[in-house]
Amino acid sequence: MVPVPALSRCLVAVGLVAALAATACITSPMGRQQLVLFPESEMATMGAAAFDKLKTDLPTSRDAARQRYVRCVADAITAQLRPGEGARSWEVTVFEDASANAFALPGGKIGVHTGLLQVARDQHQLATVIGHEVAHVVARHSNERVSNQFAAQTGLQLAGSIAGGSPQLMGLLGVGAQVGVLLPFDRAQESEADLLGLDLMARAGFDPRQSVPLWRNMEKAGGGAPPEFLSTHPSAGRRIQELSQRIPRVLPVYESARAAGRRPACS
Ligand SMILES: [Zn+2]
Repeated sequence: MVPVPALSRCLVAVGLVAALAATACITSPMGRQQLVLFPESEMATMGAAAFDKLKTDLPTSRDAARQRYVRCVADAITAQLRPGEGARSWEVTVFEDASANAFALPGGKIGVHTGLLQVARDQHQLATVIGHEVAHVVARHSNERVSNQFAAQTGLQLAGSIAGGSPQLMGLLGVGAQVGVLLPFDRAQESEADLLGLDLMARAGFDPRQSVPLWRNMEKAGGGAPPEFLSTHPSAGRRIQELSQRIPRVLPVYESARAAGRRPACS
């Protein structure tokens, strides 16, 4: 598709699918125009179906201590979501998979691969990744991707794939790597998830300064062949630079969270 500025793409798409009652152009938490066609309840249904499929296809970790550790970090983060930012309760699953990857889906689903726990060396670093993934959901990036694709295909093909839970839809929801379809979030969505994720982790009482060593570890772990997470989430150097600039703004948020007694101790 020829690149079109987001706003005009938004308007054209609205014209194409005006019959949909839920048609809407909204502004993302970072002030970017987004086309969002699907009600959150429908996105939640898609997210839950994708998660069920992953739980069928991938082995889950039987290590109860690991499951507890990841849930401890994830719960601290999702407890900070404000009304309208996401599901009230979140299901957290650790998948037995050597790649350093994680994802969050609409409908309150979080998946973490065991390989990520080799790279995210403590609770603050794990919170960086989970915060980033939950931020994709808060900013409705899956809805935006499915909506853009729906508009581009005049809905017909994608409607079929929504019904069937296809690899294409899994990719648009952000779990393409798990089913062999690489459909990375775009740079603007990645930046939003990084910055919103940083804010979320700070609100939960995790140290936002640890985001920098996390992305350095991720880069190192890549070696010649980047881990799954980096291959779907590009430009580690630029992301570290953006995060470093943002950290002074969120440190006071972290400090007030600690002062208010939000001091997670997940291990
Ligand atoms: Zn991302």
